[in-house]
Amino acid sequence: MYDWGWRPYVSVATRRKNAQKVTAKLKKKGEKVSPVVINGHLLAKTFWGKAWCAHLESFSDYANRLPRGRTYVRNGSVIHLHVDHGKVEALVQGSELYKVKVDIQTVDPKKWAAILQHCSGQIDSVIELLQGKLSAGVMKTMIDKHNGLFPTPQEIALDCSCPDWADMCKHVAAVLYGVGNRLDQEPELLFKLRHVNHMDLIHKAGIKVPAKQSAKSKILKDADLSVIFGIDIAEGEEDINQKRSARKP
Ligand SMILES: [Zn+2]
Repeated sequence: MYDWGWRPYVSVATRRKNAQKVTAKLKKKGEKVSPVVINGHLLAKTFWGKAWCAHLESFSDYANRLPRGRTYVRNGSVIHLHVDHGKVEALVQGSELYKVKVDIQTVDPKKWAAILQHCSGQIDSVIELLQGKLSAGVMKTMIDKHNGLFPTPQEIALDCSCPDWADMCKHVAAVLYGVGNRLDQEPELLFKLRHVNHMDLIHKAGIKVPAKQSAKSKILKDADLSVIFGIDIAEGEEDINQKRSARKP
């Protein structure tokens, strides 16, 4: 490792205090800040949030670097996170305050058309869609690693104002987990981020709803997500973290 990006160690307590100070200053200036607040052990608790995190962790180019952001996001270092069409903008309190920008490409129209076609007639409730409680087949289509709604690393461009240019810095990693946490509260933001309208799924995909045929006998559970993305999730988040750091060269 090169040392040119070295910064003096700043304790969690100091970072927290700095984060509060900066937040207060921004609010005083009339800026709207939406911090990422993690309650409890899990970074994400609902279907979309968990699936987002599991998806990103399932890529080998991210797997080793993402866990660095966990402590950061847990400690309240992401003092602002905003999800917009095709981009995420955030402020992260590290040893200094850093600006993070994540650009995410629009869902390929062909993929979106395929999703709509595949889900045709099976979605009749926005609420169930946003809760991730549609049939397993529909949800699997939407979170398919390569043809679903989540972006692949090739569709994501990362940027941070910190001097740690090598690979993905912990500020960016914290923001990516922050997005997962935000999807817990507002799952519709995923559709906004990917520049598609989730209502299309209802209008276009739900047109031919045959009565009672959208069997919801099986809903995707955490175990299913683990199988789909080939990683452990929910339980033992810390363990994965440790195993991964142990594996680091
Ligand atoms: Zn950074």
